[in-house]
Amino acid sequence: MKETVCIVCPRGCKLRIDESGGDLAVTGNACRRGRDFAVSELKDPRRTICTTVRTAFPEVPVLPVRLSAEIPKARIFDVMREINAVTVESRVGRGDIIIKDVLSLGADVIASSNLLKEIQ
Ligand code: SF4
Repeated sequence: MKETVCIVCPRGCKLRIDESGGDLAVTGNACRRGRDFAVSELKDPRRTICTTVRTAFPEVPVLPVRLSAEIPKARIFDVMREINAVTVESRVGRGDIIIKDVLSLGADVIASSNLLKEIQ
């Protein structure tokens, strides 16, 4: 038996997952998405990242970025090392790719702000 909290929506249902003979029984979820989350947490937990990246522009020293898709939870710190090693040197805008297919995980690191275009 495993207990976890569903993070799909702000309600935060407390989930209980019982596994027996290859079958999963999920209780505590208020909707179907909670069951899907519980199954994913057991078999292939994934997360996204929203953070900032350093820039070469003193007026905007850091720029908000996010991942274009979820990645395996176990690779978050590896991806953060890649993001922390980057300095943005051009005036990118929202949706522009900062790191393409980071660590071959199928997700791009993309700018989530137009600050570099708006503040000059
Ligand atoms: S189970 Fe459904 S209602 Fe509950 S936190 Fe997850 S998504 Fe929200």
